Formats: sequence, structure tokens, C-alpha cells
Amino acid sequence: MNLTEFPTYEPGPFADNTTVEVRNEGLPSGRIRSALFDFDGTISLIRTGWQDIMIPMMVEILRDAGDEQTEDSLTLYIREYVDRLTGKQTIFQMMQLAEEVERLGGNALDPLDYKQIYNDRLMERIESRRNDLQSGARGPDDLMMPRTRELLDGLKARGVTLYLASGTDYVYVEEEAKLLEVDGYFDGGIYAALDRIEDFSKAMVIKQMFEEHELSGPELVSFGDGYVEILNTKEADGIAVGVASDEVGRVDVNEWKRNRLIQAGADIIIPGYQHQEALFDVLFGEGA
Ligand SMILES: [Mg+2]
Repeated sequence: MNLTEFPTYEPGPFADNTTVEVRNEGLPSGRIRSALFDFDGTISLIRTGWQDIMIPMMVEILRDAGDEQTEDSLTLYIREYVDRLTGKQTIFQMMQLAEEVERLGGNALDPLDYKQIYNDRLMERIESRRNDLQSGARGPDDLMMPRTRELLDGLKARGVTLYLASGTDYVYVEEEAKLLEVDGYFDGGIYAALDRIEDFSKAMVIKQMFEEHELSGPELVSFGDGYVEILNTKEADGIAVGVASDEVGRVDVNEWKRNRLIQAGADIIIPGYQHQEALFDVLFGEGA
């Protein structure tokens, strides 16, 4: 795998000396009526670190299947497709894994079985976070991107209908949105992975939003830290805000995410919602 397949981009320009990076200075502002949010890494930090469960699990499985690349190049290879499929349902990453195993001449498990192994391992990692929220040992804002609630309030105050869409299984998304006390914001609905894979995709949710509200492109804004939601939004001519969140420190830009989100066509890049006043200026044309 050649590193040059991951382009890097020079920073800027930034709005009003903030961290709001406006990649598309010609974006049509002031027309937004609906907003679509990704969940993990965009709002919720409950599942932070999922990549550190998924990628090593895949390294292990491909090693067993006979892959002989160095640890680094195998990890990078896996990371590329995991990343590219982030935002789709988890099962797609597991389907790719099964395909890689077959390619190596191994006997792949059913992708659903891989997903089960992954879910079990991830749950082990995040169980204490969910328990802490349930018991009240930690408050919801502890496990969210800072100032998320204010951002959602700000959008509501501007009459925007909010939607949530996630590639994580619906049961988890519903539960975790409740634990974070943000479920009530999404008057447009909460959409996530269902048992039948053909029943959900972010592209389908966007299509439905456009039909229900007779939206045209720049009346939709979407917020996401994954490749897929940005791509789907740009395909629909919506405004894409790439959230290049550092899910651990919660302040700085995650450069890996930033580059991938720009590559996918993000109009705006933010590390989080610290400078949401400037973000509102750009999106709603309130500044000038
Ligand atoms: Mg995400």
C-alpha cells in the first residue's frame, strides 16, 4: 500500500481566526432547513476507540488466513478500507474482511459472525462507559463532543429539522442517544443499521429527507466524521461539515480524519463545536 493514496491538504482559510476551516468559500449560505447528523465520533464518544478494536481484530484474522505483509502495511491496508466504509453499516466492513480472507485462500466466516465477534469485543471496551451513564457516575456531556447540546439548540432555534443517521445497529444508537439525552432533538427521526442491510443507508435517509420536505441541495447540511456521509451529502448537493474530531482530547483536529473528509468533498472542516458562533455565521450567512 502506497501512502500517496492518502492526500494531505494545506490548512485554511479559517473563518474569523477560529478553527472553522472553510474549504468551499462559495458555499450557498442561509438556506438550511434540515440537518443530518452522524452519531459516533460526531456527537457520541461512547464508542470512541472502536477502530482500535476493529483493525487489530482484522489484522489477526488476515494473519491467520496467511497474509504475510509487515504489521504496518497490513494495518494501513485494513485501515484504508475500514475508513472508506465508515458511515456505512458495520456489516460492510465485515463483508470486506470476508472477501479479503477468501482472496488469501482462507475459509471466511459469515460476515454476521465477524460482526458478532467485533460487537462483543467492542462492548467489553465500552460497557463501563454505558454503565457510568446509566448510574449517573458520569454525566452525558462527559461522553459527547463539547458543546454538542448548544449546537443542536442553535439549529433548533433557527427552525432546522434534525435527523440522526448511523451505521451502528439501531438498538445501540437509540439506547445511546437516550443515555446522552439527545434523542429528543431529532424530530426528523433516528435512522440506523437494521437486520436487513437493504433497509438502511445514509443515501436512503438523504433521499427520504429531500422527498419529504421537497428540499433542494443547499437546504441540507450534514455533520459527520466519516467519509460516506460527506460523499452522500455532496452527491445530493448539500452542505457537508466534516467533523475531524479528536475523540480523546476533544479539542484538536484529527489530521487523518481531516484529510479524508476533505478528500470526500467537505465544504467546511471543524475539530468540534467550540467555535460554533463562527460556524453559524458561515452556514446561515449571519456574519456580514
Ligand atoms: Mg462517525
